[in-house]
Amino acid sequence: MSAEIRTRLWIRNEWEDAASGETFPSTNPATGEVIAQVARGDAADVDRAVVAARDAMASKEWSRINPHDRSQLLFRLADLIEAHGDELGALETRDNGKPYFEARRIDVPSTVGVFRYFAGMADKIFGETIPVAGPFLNYTLREPVGVVGCITPWNFPMNIASWKVAPALACGNAVVLKPAEETPLTALRIAELAAEAGFPPGVFNVVPGMGEEAGAALVAHPGVNAISFTGSTEVGRIIAREAAQSLKKVSLELGGKSPNIVFADADMKAAVRGAATGIFYGKGEVCAAGSRIFVEASVYDEFVEAFAARAEGMTVGDPMDKGTRLGAIVSEAQLDRVMSYVEAGKREGARLVAGGERVQVDGKGNFVTATVFADVTPEMTIAREEIFGPVAAVLPFDDIEDAIAKANDTAFGLASGVWTRDIGKAHRVARDLEAGIVWVNTYNMYDPGAPFGGVKESGYGPDLGYRTALEKYTRTKSVWVAVDR
Ligand code: NAD
Repeated sequence: MSAEIRTRLWIRNEWEDAASGETFPSTNPATGEVIAQVARGDAADVDRAVVAARDAMASKEWSRINPHDRSQLLFRLADLIEAHGDELGALETRDNGKPYFEARRIDVPSTVGVFRYFAGMADKIFGETIPVAGPFLNYTLREPVGVVGCITPWNFPMNIASWKVAPALACGNAVVLKPAEETPLTALRIAELAAEAGFPPGVFNVVPGMGEEAGAALVAHPGVNAISFTGSTEVGRIIAREAAQSLKKVSLELGGKSPNIVFADADMKAAVRGAATGIFYGKGEVCAAGSRIFVEASVYDEFVEAFAARAEGMTVGDPMDKGTRLGAIVSEAQLDRVMSYVEAGKREGARLVAGGERVQVDGKGNFVTATVFADVTPEMTIAREEIFGPVAAVLPFDDIEDAIAKANDTAFGLASGVWTRDIGKAHRVARDLEAGIVWVNTYNMYDPGAPFGGVKESGYGPDLGYRTALEKYTRTKSVWVAVDR
């Protein structure tokens, strides 16, 4: 990777140090090496960034920009991200530990795709004319919400940033992005590329820092009109409570414990492959991970055997190696968390059929092997709590009612999967699952046009999708005009 790593705050299209002068380390979890000391933004820095964003909203340059030009800025940014794909992919891999193959071939192109999709939206935002009684014309305007605070997690740093920043900018807002402290580097680089694309100063600001400092300050700031958050349910609750003070608009994409249901009539090979992708893709550090796999009793043993064999074949290794399928867990703290769940699974009587081991590669790094527990019961900790690691719980079920009841027996409601050749059964299950996303005979499919978000304790206000973005990042004004008088 050639380019120098950006480490400072990005405010008004310029690099700045934190007012306190403090920094924090960003570490490569595959090697333990500190790759950068990053400016540690706090309330004073957030305030500076919010003032910059408010100034941008007040400027004619941004608020009166022709919508076609706004669209072109986003297209140009997408092109620049694409052109810097090798650099951004390598940076994401070093910061997060995911295989370079995934970062370069999946995360970068999908980030580009999200910017292009919302570039296409920017000049197609319009209100309605409403038939009203009397000699009046009534119409609605779709206006930007204002300054949007975006707070993102560490598992898909540039992707999830794009899910928020691209639609917010397309709708004419200014943003202040607070990336996760574990993985702040790609967001800083993308914001710099936005300036190169021609975005005016203050439209796209980035303040790296700790959640309780920079993140909390963004949520509390009276100059921020909306918060778009992705992260844990625990922090989501704090944000919803805090935002109640100022009544700013909040959307929350939170945790999950998603069910993946395999019926006996499924294409078993495809189901085993899909269940493995569902839990092991992204090291299981995926909010939509299919971490509870429900298998119909008549094929349970056959499935467990094939699934365990597939897990054993997931190569743990240096994320830069082509053959690596499981990279490094993002931090030592997260690895400890994952291992504590492995211990809980053993202690509570689940049968460990694959993995469960903490390993190192060349004597370094935070790695764990792809782990499968069979004979899990619904009340076990590993069937209830989000692990956020490559640990699958496989549970048997008797019939369709039993599958739906067990799948819905969770506080979460993010994603879900169903594997069957019976189309009626597939639609019945899709209807009855309490989840924001249902994948039928597939898993982990994403498209910028398809909404992504949860129900229950997985949050509210989906990312992606045209209409959902419009709801989230614009406000409606109703205009009355007396006519014929
Ligand atoms: P986290 O909630 O600890 O942190 C997420 C972000 O919030 C980080 O930027 C963090 O600095 C910030 N933050 C922490 N405390 C804050 C506070 N008091 N005020 C404001 N901001 C604060 O989550 P994480 O550990 O980074 O990510 C893992 C979690 O994210 C998992 O639960 C996972 O399911 C969830 N997640 C959900 C989705 C989704 O789309 N639903 C996607 C990815 C991850």
